[in-house]
Amino acid sequence: MYEFAVTPAVTQLRRPGVIITEVTPGSLGEELELRPSDRIVRVNGRPVRDYLDFRFQTAGESELVFQVKRAGGESYEVEFDREEGEDLGLMFEQIVPRQCANECLFCFCKGNPDDARPSLFVRDEDIRLSFLYGNYTTLSSITPDEMNRVIEQRLSPQYVSVHATDLKTRAYMLGVDEIRADISDKLRRLLDNDIEIHAQVVLCPEINDGAILEKTLRDLAAHHPKVVSTAVVPVALTRYNTDERLTRVTPEFCRRTIKQVEKLQREFRKGLGVTFAFLGDEIYIKAGVEIPTRRHYGNYPQIEDGVGMIRSFLSSFERLLRDVEAGRRSRTETAANVRTHPAAIKPQADPIETPQVRKLNGTIITGEMFAPILGEQIARFNALTGAGLTVLAVPNTYFGGDVAVAGLLSGQDLLNVKDKITGDFALIPPHIIKSDEPVLIDGMQFDDLKARFPVPIIAEDIFEFLRRNDGEGRVSA
Ligand code: SF4
Repeated sequence: MYEFAVTPAVTQLRRPGVIITEVTPGSLGEELELRPSDRIVRVNGRPVRDYLDFRFQTAGESELVFQVKRAGGESYEVEFDREEGEDLGLMFEQIVPRQCANECLFCFCKGNPDDARPSLFVRDEDIRLSFLYGNYTTLSSITPDEMNRVIEQRLSPQYVSVHATDLKTRAYMLGVDEIRADISDKLRRLLDNDIEIHAQVVLCPEINDGAILEKTLRDLAAHHPKVVSTAVVPVALTRYNTDERLTRVTPEFCRRTIKQVEKLQREFRKGLGVTFAFLGDEIYIKAGVEIPTRRHYGNYPQIEDGVGMIRSFLSSFERLLRDVEAGRRSRTETAANVRTHPAAIKPQADPIETPQVRKLNGTIITGEMFAPILGEQIARFNALTGAGLTVLAVPNTYFGGDVAVAGLLSGQDLLNVKDKITGDFALIPPHIIKSDEPVLIDGMQFDDLKARFPVPIIAEDIFEFLRRNDGEGRVSA
């Protein structure tokens, strides 16, 4: 039988077991003589397909038997006892994602330039990655085995792209027939088995907005608290999305959507005690409407989907400014106390001029969407500390279209603005560099970019950077 949902995303044969990639020195794993490249195929006689199976089979077990295959083919068994909760000190290979069986109208893969990194074309749809990392799945091609696994192994919460509860609309958006698009039974089964769901709606003007959006949010809210929250995020079209059925999101559309959803949010807060349906930050920014308060977002259930990120950033920046101010005050007081203590030796006038500490002076690079918000906060940091930091908004020419987030900036985008850099360094968001390889989204090597830049590039989280430098002094690239 041909089954899309279990097709590995890369041309790699799936062997039974899970491969160890690292053994922590001094750990129980090392004591048991487990080695990187060993494959654990059974735990207490039960088969292991991947890391999640391993985790499930070992959870709460103190008496364990591993059946292991060495890289050379030799098999052996390890039998041991461990203390409750004792870590084995093992790291495992990454899960190879399953691919989806959809042809979504707005699929991000269709918005990639042809020469984008191969990994950007992976259409992952995997309940394991949903549980582990909050990746969304449509559930439209989940197999019965996968459904059973979610329930048996308690892979909760699951993140589900619902888009619309109106079946015709959902099928149209996913590019599949209505039978495949209908996930009502699957959702019911998951909810009946106490699997929590965080839902997502990718909002496409003139397709699933207006009355269809209202129906979707009400239908989902009827299952709260098991459906914990719903994120409504705007479709983002690059210049490569040329499908005529798609309409770009405009500021006017965003204002209309905010008005519509605010009414529902008030209702949900009254009836359910929580906001439940959250709009993506981009909608507020595009509309030119103030981002909701901290209380609106509760515990930020959909922050990874760009919902509440700005509010969370602003709250963290407040804390940073308070800490910087307190730190500077305490340093000044300490210095004053040393000078005024009766036993202190009064310094003689120094004939040599004391060198001035150089103020922090550089450029912070970000996307066009976030730049105005970041610019306001950096101005406050400069005023407090005397630093001379500038925020530079970089247009995304690689994807073009509506793409204005910092995370999708390419190496060429950064080179395009190199003449606008001021100061001694450029700070870039660290996540624009691939996590396992020093390469940018367009394939440019990070070293190559550094070599072509007029100042040193620092790839660091902005809070870590500002706390480390505190407005004064030396910057290490
Ligand atoms: S957007 Fe649709 S087609 Fe694209 S990866 Fe996700 S589910 Fe598949």
